[in-house]
Parts: sequence; structure tokens; C-alpha cells
Amino acid sequence: MDFFLPDEDDAIRQEVRAWIREHPNPTARDLAYAGFVVPHWPQPWGREADPLTQLIIDDELRKVGIRRPFNPIGTGWLGPTIIKYGTEEQRDRYLFPMLAGEEIWCQLFSEPGAGSDLAAVTTRAEHAGEYYVVSGSKIWTTFAHMSKFGVLLARTSFPGSSHETLSHDELSSTGNPYDDVTSRHAGLSYFICPMDTDGITVRTIRDMTGHESFNEVFFDEVKIPQANLIGNIGDGWRVAKATLGNERVSLSSEGLMWGAGPTVMDLIDLVAGRDTLSTPVRHRLTRAYINEQVLRITRLRITGKAVAGQEKGPEVSIVKALSDAHGKSVMDLAVDIAGAGGMLRDGDPLCGLVGWEHGHGRTWGKKRTLGASDWISGFLFSPALTIGGGTAEIQRNIIAENALGLPRD
Ligand SMILES: Cc1cc2nc3c(=O)[nH]c(=O)nc-3n(C[C@H](O)[C@H](O)[C@H](O)COP(=O)(O)OP(=O)(O)OC[C@H]3O[C@@H](n4cnc5c(N)ncnc54)[C@H](O)[C@@H]3O)c2cc1C
Repeated sequence: MDFFLPDEDDAIRQEVRAWIREHPNPTARDLAYAGFVVPHWPQPWGREADPLTQLIIDDELRKVGIRRPFNPIGTGWLGPTIIKYGTEEQRDRYLFPMLAGEEIWCQLFSEPGAGSDLAAVTTRAEHAGEYYVVSGSKIWTTFAHMSKFGVLLARTSFPGSSHETLSHDELSSTGNPYDDVTSRHAGLSYFICPMDTDGITVRTIRDMTGHESFNEVFFDEVKIPQANLIGNIGDGWRVAKATLGNERVSLSSEGLMWGAGPTVMDLIDLVAGRDTLSTPVRHRLTRAYINEQVLRITRLRITGKAVAGQEKGPEVSIVKALSDAHGKSVMDLAVDIAGAGGMLRDGDPLCGLVGWEHGHGRTWGKKRTLGASDWISGFLFSPALTIGGGTAEIQRNIIAENALGLPRD
């Protein structure tokens, strides 16, 4: 695989440039219809772009400052699940508005008692005519407060039960049905949930950066149309596993904060030319740069497999495990370099004295100034990297079992 981008006269470059000339100020819909939002998706939503083509498209869009619409959970990992398991009607209805960022999506999987052990989900969806009636609660649902739709993992039958679902009374008289580890993956189903349906309450949670990006979501007899089921009833675990596999790839992309935020090169740009950097700090920067290149190449390999229609293997967990730890260590390094200045936020009168706001960022395409808050928020958020999308320990369990062939946990 060639990791250097082709020259200016490359045919794909020329094609992208010609499109940009015709669409100098593209709308989100223009980008979606051209297949530029997620180029490796199949047509008509993407361009089935191999890794190199994707990099060229990224490069050309970045050069002219074209940014893609915002919908990270939708385009990152829910869209591919709908492409794989959804019906034609579902693909027609949901994918283009998702690509254009017109309808934001969230993922309603985790519950207070079901995180790493996702099969312990207790939110119930009972069949009632043309609907499923959902009761229960979810937690840590990123963007639920701004989403039009969510994908919901709910239990439509309980292990050992001939009923489609158990009532609360039946549930308490049968003991804990989740003790039967072998069968509890069965009976989960995967739905598209319109977030404005009656009976849904969303409550934001403030994290230690001071931002409110994730939520608790409560379901009180929420009616979801039967047509919103993705895949077969009771087969939600298989569909959810596809979502989780895509999530782990997406969360491992270039920006240090799950693909967003600054990159190692932003930090290097920021400190380049300072002759006061100590030797240990130079070594840490060099190690960070090398790690970033290794991750980049491994990500390209995964994308290449996806485009070739091959199943993703344990390298997804390897990249997730490595990039989360990498993101955290670079944020630690940034704050260490800043010294006392690392305690400042944008707008703080002392900020200018430590020079934080003079760095140039590459993160968002057009060069932009990185402020102190990019690094401080990143530093405060970075412990979450090794939890969301599957914790570091869970990734290592997957690598141990699926790559190294060690006994199951
Ligand atoms: C920033 C952020 C955003 C998130 N967004 C979403 C979202 O949009 N939608 C959603 O559904 N969820 C979301 N989550 C939730 C996330 O998926 C869960 O937090 C994660 O799966 C861990 O579950 P838990 O918090 O219940 O921890 P637990 O599963 O209770 O784990 C607690 C600790 O025990 C360890 N542990 C658990 N089981 C094992 C094992 N078998 N072997 C070794 N160690 C183990 C874990 O590694 C962890 O250290 C988000 C989380 C974060 C941090």
C-alpha cells in the first residue's frame, strides 16, 4: 500500500477539483449526493472509495476549507448498520438526511446496569399491534438532547421464556434471567427510535470539562412503529455487534479526541522552534509522532479491508486500544509542556503570556488558531477515551480471545 499521496496531475484529484469548481460553495446535500461525506460507503451514498481515494478527497476538500456536515454517530457507525441490515425503505428514508447532517443520530445502548456487559440490557419492547411499547432507561447517550433519531437496543424476549416479553411480576418471580449467559444475547432487538416520541424524557449530564454532551434517556411506554425494527425480531445482538465494530473504527480516527480535536502535528506545530524543550519532552513528542503514523497506517489497512468487503478483524480493537491511550498521553504531554499555563482556559487574561493561542491547527481543514481550551478540554476529556465505545479492558479481552486465541473471559 502506498502511503504517499499522488501528485497534482492525479486523475482522482482532477475529478474532485472539477467538482469543487462546479460547486464552489457546496451545501451539505451537494456533498451528500456527490458521495463526499463518507466516500467509502457504497453508492449512491458514497463512492466505494479505497483508502487512497479517500485520502485524496480529504486532502482536496481540506485545501479549499470545505467541511463535512456534523453527524458523527450517524455517519460514523449507525449508517453502515442501516446499509447492512436495514430495508430498502429504511435506507431511502434515513441515509441522505443523515449524511447531510439534517437529522442528528444517537445510540441508545448503555444502561445503568449494562455497559461492558451489554447483553444485560433490561429496557423492554413489548409487541402491541403495529407498535412496540418501550419502557426502561438508557445512560451516557451522546447527543440524545439534539438528536432526531436514535438506535435503540431493547429486549423483546427474556431467556427461558416462551413469552415475547415478561411482565414485571413474571420477571421478579423468575429470578434473574441474565444469569444464563449462553442465551441472553437472544431476545434483543434493534429499533430506530424517533426522539420526539411521547414518553421519552432526556436529561443532560455535565462532564468534568463543563460540557453537556451525553444524557440519561427515560422511556415511559413509548410507542415505536413495527416498521422501525432493523433486522429480525430477537436478532438485535448481531446488528448491535456490527454497530460496535464500526464505532470502534470511527472512534480511532485522526483527531486525538475520537477523531475530533487537535492532532499530534498540531502540538508539534505549536512547540516547533522552542529551544527550551527538554530532552525527555522531545522524546515524548517523537514517540507520539511515531505512534500516530503507526495508527494511521493500521487504520488505512482496516479501511482497505472494509472497501474490499472483508470482515473487520481484531485489528479494530487493537487500533481502538492504542489510539485511546495515545490520545490521553498526548493530552497529558500538552499540559505538561504548558506547565502552569496548562491550568488556563481561553479568555483567561494570562493566556496570552504563555502563548497558547498562537499555535496553528490543522484539525479542521483550514488552518485555524488553537486555543488553550482545545488542550485543556482535551486533557479533561481524555480519560473518557478509554471508556466510551468499549473500555480498554474490554478491547484487551477481545484481542486476547480473537487474536491470541487465549481462553474466554
Ligand atoms: C464519553 C462517553 C460517551 C458515551 N456515549 C455513549 C453513547 O452514545 N451511547 C451508549 O449507549 N453508550 C455510551 N457510552 C457508554 C459506554 O459505552 C460505557 O461507559 C462503556 O461501555 C462501559 O460501561 P460502564 O460505564 O457501564 O462500565 P462497566 O461495564 O461497569 O465497567 C466498569 C469497569 O470494569 C471493567 N470491566 C467490566 N467488565 C470487564 C471484563 N469482563 N474484564 C475486565 N474488565 C472489565 C471495565 O473495563 C471498567 O474499567 C459513552 C461513554 C463515554 C465515556
